[in-house]
Amino acid sequence: MHGFDLIRGQQQAIGLLTTLLRKGHIPHALVFTGIDGIGKQTTARAFAMACNCDDPQPLSASSSETSPAARINACGRCRSCRRILSDNHPDILHLRPSGNMIRIAVIRDLIQQLTIKPFEQGKRVVIIAGSDTMNMEASNALLKVLEEPPENTLLILTAQQTADLLPTIVSRCQQIRFSPLPRDVLIGLLTEDDALTPEEARAAAALAEGSYTHALKMVQAGWIPRRDWLANELSRLDGRSTTAKLALAEKLADGKKLLPDTLAWLMTWYRDLIVFPFQPEQIVNSDLRHQVQAEAAKTSPQALIDRMKAVQRARQHLEANANPRLTMEDLVLQLAAV
Ligand SMILES: [Zn+2]
Repeated sequence: MHGFDLIRGQQQAIGLLTTLLRKGHIPHALVFTGIDGIGKQTTARAFAMACNCDDPQPLSASSSETSPAARINACGRCRSCRRILSDNHPDILHLRPSGNMIRIAVIRDLIQQLTIKPFEQGKRVVIIAGSDTMNMEASNALLKVLEEPPENTLLILTAQQTADLLPTIVSRCQQIRFSPLPRDVLIGLLTEDDALTPEEARAAAALAEGSYTHALKMVQAGWIPRRDWLANELSRLDGRSTTAKLALAEKLADGKKLLPDTLAWLMTWYRDLIVFPFQPEQIVNSDLRHQVQAEAAKTSPQALIDRMKAVQRARQHLEANANPRLTMEDLVLQLAAV
């Protein structure tokens, strides 16, 4: 497996890109849009490799339904491919935000480099990751490059959405949309590449909203043991003293990094309890099935809806920068009382 064949869950984007390669119509600039962690960078690199490969290969049948025989996929072995894979190709420039933004100085450097002729025969490719972090000054400088594109050079911008870029930049780029990864693709990646157990992968994929990096960060931050702990705490919450409830709130507020994921998970938890009696196969927390069943049996649907509303309010308060500790105290008391 090499080049485009390594990219999962983005058939539409890969289809458009391979069509460009097959027709030999490579625009001056592309913008890849979609949430973080779904393969935009990997695809940009695969495209740069495909444009410069010395020994292009056919796509595997699964990557392309149309003319799989066309030799448009990078081989991954030739000198050019190896240099791109090791970030050592002089004509493949990869810009990334530093300290959350791409500064004007970086774009000025790029403009300077683009005045020099490419070192090799192939196509020069500039990948600008997180191009939505450019400020106005940097954006305007980049716009000048797009207005007078250097010869034999392709710019690939990546951004979460085009709304975060200058419209004048967007209008000069062909947009390629990337989708959140389907849950089964995400589970496949996490079990194969990161050696998670299927249960761990399912638990992380359930909350990652289709982003591979989000799922991985959650696992690394200790999400799965925390979720199991919280599910246990919730099942014992009703009869507990106020002191115990406040202690739980404090623990939740202490895990500040995981707080948004914790609240997102609470929504899936209560949703599962509502859904379970009707469609048990549809629950998200399928590895906690026994707990879901036990909780669903002892809580009324109306109480569950009220709890979801309470979680939703807590999320809104935190987004409005409310104090995490007070917000969680308020929430835990509501989850127990209603
Ligand atoms: Zn190659």
